[in-house]
Amino acid sequence: MLPEPLWEYVMDDFDKGLDFKCCKCGQNNHVNIDENDLDFEYSKNAEREMGTEYVYSSYNYLICDNCKKENELEVMIYEYSVGAYNMHTIKVNGKEVK
Ligand SMILES: [Zn+2]
Repeated sequence: MLPEPLWEYVMDDFDKGLDFKCCKCGQNNHVNIDENDLDFEYSKNAEREMGTEYVYSSYNYLICDNCKKENELEVMIYEYSVGAYNMHTIKVNGKEVK
C-alpha cells in the first residue's frame, strides 16, 4: 500500500483528469482517474546514501473511447529517503505524460 502522504503528489496531477492519445487509432482521450483506480505495489529499488529507495508502481488500462483498445497506464512513485516523497512519473504506453 502506498503511504497516505504520497497519494497527494500523484492525485494533484490527476485533478483535471488525464489526456492521452490512443496507441492504435490516434484519438485524443480524456479520462478521470480516481484513487480507487490505482493499486500500488512496492518494491525495493536501490540502496542509496541515505538508505533504501522504494518504488511504488501501479499498472492500469485506459480504454480508448473510439476503438476500445487498451492503453497502458503506468504510475510510479519514488520514496527516498524512507517516508519521504522523492519523485513520480506517469506514463501511457511507455511515454511520459506528466
Ligand atoms: Zn483508439
